Amino acid sequence: MTIYSGSKQETCMTDKTADEIRREFIEFFESKGHTYAPSSPVVPVDDPTLMFANAGMNQFKDVFLGTGSRPYTRAANTQKCIRVSGKHNDLEEVGRDTYHHTFFEMLGNWSFGDYFKREAIGWAWELLTGVWGLPKDRLYATVFGGDASEGLEPDEEAARLWTEVTDINPTHVSRFGKKDNFWEMGATGPCGPCSEIHVDLTPDGSGSKLVNKDDARVIEIWNLVFMQYNRDESGRLSPLPARHVDTGLGFERLVRVLQGVSSNYDSDVFAPILARIAELTGKRYTAKVGHDAHIDNAFRVIADHVRMLTFAIADGAKPSNEGRGYVLRRVLRRAARFGRQQFDQREPFIYKIVPTIAEHMGHFFPEIREQADKIMTLIREEEESFGRTLDRGIALFEQAARSGKCIAAVDAFKLYDTYGFPLDLTVQMAAERGMAVDETGFEKLMAEAKELARASAKQHKAVAIEGELPRTDDALKYQGRSATAKILGWIENNAYIGKGDLNIGDEEVLLILDRTCFYAEQGGQVGDTGTIKTSLGTFAVHTTQKLGDAILHIGKVAAGTICAGQSAELTVDAGRELTRKNHTATHLCHWALRKVCDESVKQHGSVVDPDRLRFDFDHNAPLTDEQIAEVERLVNEKVYADLELTTRELPIEEAKKLPNVRAFFGEKYGDRVRVVKIGDGFSTEFCGGTHLDRTGQIGLFKIVGEEAVAKGIRRVTAVTGPKAIEAVQQIERSARQAAALLQTNPDQLADRIAGLQEEIKKLRRQLARGAAADIKSIRQKLLEEAEKVAGSAIIVGELPEAPVAQVREAADWLRSQAGSAAVCLATVSDGKPLLIAAMTGDLIAKGLKAGDLVKEVVGAIEGRGGGKPDLAQAGGQNPAGIPKALAAAAAWIKQKLG
Ligand code: ATP
Ligand code: MG
Repeated sequence: MTIYSGSKQETCMTDKTADEIRREFIEFFESKGHTYAPSSPVVPVDDPTLMFANAGMNQFKDVFLGTGSRPYTRAANTQKCIRVSGKHNDLEEVGRDTYHHTFFEMLGNWSFGDYFKREAIGWAWELLTGVWGLPKDRLYATVFGGDASEGLEPDEEAARLWTEVTDINPTHVSRFGKKDNFWEMGATGPCGPCSEIHVDLTPDGSGSKLVNKDDARVIEIWNLVFMQYNRDESGRLSPLPARHVDTGLGFERLVRVLQGVSSNYDSDVFAPILARIAELTGKRYTAKVGHDAHIDNAFRVIADHVRMLTFAIADGAKPSNEGRGYVLRRVLRRAARFGRQQFDQREPFIYKIVPTIAEHMGHFFPEIREQADKIMTLIREEEESFGRTLDRGIALFEQAARSGKCIAAVDAFKLYDTYGFPLDLTVQMAAERGMAVDETGFEKLMAEAKELARASAKQHKAVAIEGELPRTDDALKYQGRSATAKILGWIENNAYIGKGDLNIGDEEVLLILDRTCFYAEQGGQVGDTGTIKTSLGTFAVHTTQKLGDAILHIGKVAAGTICAGQSAELTVDAGRELTRKNHTATHLCHWALRKVCDESVKQHGSVVDPDRLRFDFDHNAPLTDEQIAEVERLVNEKVYADLELTTRELPIEEAKKLPNVRAFFGEKYGDRVRVVKIGDGFSTEFCGGTHLDRTGQIGLFKIVGEEAVAKGIRRVTAVTGPKAIEAVQQIERSARQAAALLQTNPDQLADRIAGLQEEIKKLRRQLARGAAADIKSIRQKLLEEAEKVAGSAIIVGELPEAPVAQVREAADWLRSQAGSAAVCLATVSDGKPLLIAAMTGDLIAKGLKAGDLVKEVVGAIEGRGGGKPDLAQAGGQNPAGIPKALAAAAAWIKQKLG
């Protein structure tokens, strides 16, 4: 990428500060009847589909989807955005270029079913070139050029409007395809063509060929989206009844262009932060860009990242090990690594930049000033904890990088696991040397580690036992759930105790017997629970594990005393019977998956307990509904066939030669292995688990879940026996309840719902038409009954609940019909009162301004608002105040006219 970095450019326009520019944007749109709607938090509070706010429209999503409304139809603001996850991720660009940030402000203006392309284009042009004086020959506009595959026409309307309502050089309007100029909120929902404004920053104005080329010399600053279609589930586009405008103007880019500096970082948005970094590190920022500009790159990355962290923490996010918190951690660690390698910072220092940001931006975003202390503490703690392993991690990386072209998966994993290096940090460090990282291998190791962690989370801490442990004979586990045995001793505080007695206590104890029928966790099957009773006391077993040759019964004394040397009655809980069903079903499921998906399906891990079975396997695509049904059918077929299970122990070499044999993932086998065979041996696995005698005992097998656990690894969850019956009944119950509510049969549910959806659509359309008809008759009446003073009509009245656009239209219509008129209409929209005033030109000349009228009476509905002399609107909180507001409006008009 070529990056232009010169000194002040020709486009230098203004001495205005960033703060002034932000304010002017908002004021400009307020003067065009927009309501200022403050930024929503950058950590979304009510949208689980979004990790961070990433565009100004996020908080208005419900309006575009038609599920919510606002008491205004025009809005403007600056939105705090973070783009480090999901569909928008600009992390890799940060620092390398000078105009993508992790955190940035997006200025925006919106129309909700109000104005459309003409105003949006006209105002954007007026603001950029008129108010801010950007040279017109430096601006380029793009419009949507159509898409044949979607049957979408080019946006001729926008193309025409650019030349009609602005004086842009017509050769500066160009067309681009769907990728650049068609905007969609998601897979379904409102969407439409967009029109972008790009700025030519080349020294000589020769950038016409660089529009949309990801070139730093010509950058996009403003995107105007025209929402006019709705995409339904089937992917079809239909026109939206209400058309909307959604625009996004990058604030940092705008400021940099207006201030005429050569990068976002040279504007006053970043200057104080860079100065603070220089002060803390003793280095100098020289604004160089490119592969070898290590120091300047570090300056930019740290300046960017600390803003992201500050704003994210202020809105409630916290560095942690997963999800959103891990995004913060990754961003901080990237910054900290630069601090160590480029600035030789050995102590936490990033947190010391926070007060500069708070001071610099806190007057507009008070949340960062109010929470500066908390933000500093959290960042400092993160820096401290990463600082402890950073040097050793860098050393390991250096060593791994020396070995060849690609950083091996084991090294990347060790960096992650032991030294806390997020994968993207290792990738970045590798890229700095022109190297790659084995990311697929890394993902595999991650998945394995997760499985192990899950298993060992349950592992009891009996790590270093002093002294020899006795051996337990556990052959009885295959024979039943009860046995008689002798208590040998227990482990307490990591030491084996073979005499004395054990009383009721808080700590878990690890009891060891000479023999046992309890199954110790292994091969995915959970450890048994149950009770061990002696003549003097009862021991409750919470789980069972194996350590060397000893079986550990982990639990607590529940009653009386347990003495070493005594004889005991062992009883494993009945849940074991369910576990057996699930374990045998797991083998059948494994077999069926290989048949349905591919012979290459490889087991990756499994969990078998009384409640369910879970089977992870290597496979690249989700299972289809048909595949799932087929697996269920195949397994159940083997269940009805009621096949016998046989197990035997064999020398491993011999066992490996058995036809169809499957060995378990990750299992270490001894010299002899146990082989579990079903029926004629179509399923033959090495397995130490407790199985059924016959497959018929499974009863029923039902898959209840299918999901991805990591790249290339799928997980099937299934239930058997009574749990399977429960699952089926539950599904049936839900279907019946839904069917009863819809007065139909379960098998006709889908048709019925589709029919209802259709009906709702129709009713909605009728309702909208009805409201429009109502309004038409009322406005006619208002016109006829209007009082006249000095030849001008005074039209004041309330309309039934209706979309704001219709009320505006009514006001407009009344004004035009009456000739000379002062209009003030009120309505309730979504429970909130709304006032709209309109004036004819002659009355404006007499000093009656719609904006003044609204301001005068809006107090009665406890609201705020205003607007232009000819048209103004205001929303409020108290619908009961409408009559008072209207009476006040009539009085005001009369007084002014009289
Ligand atoms: P680009 O192609 O430059 O990444 P975009 O197409 O992703 O931009 P939009 O999603 O249309 O941008 O966002 C609207 C505006 O927000 C852009 O015109 C730009 O000015 C600004 N913007 C987008 N991403 C960033 C970012 N990472 N940092 C700073 N400003 C941004
Ligand atoms: Mg982008």
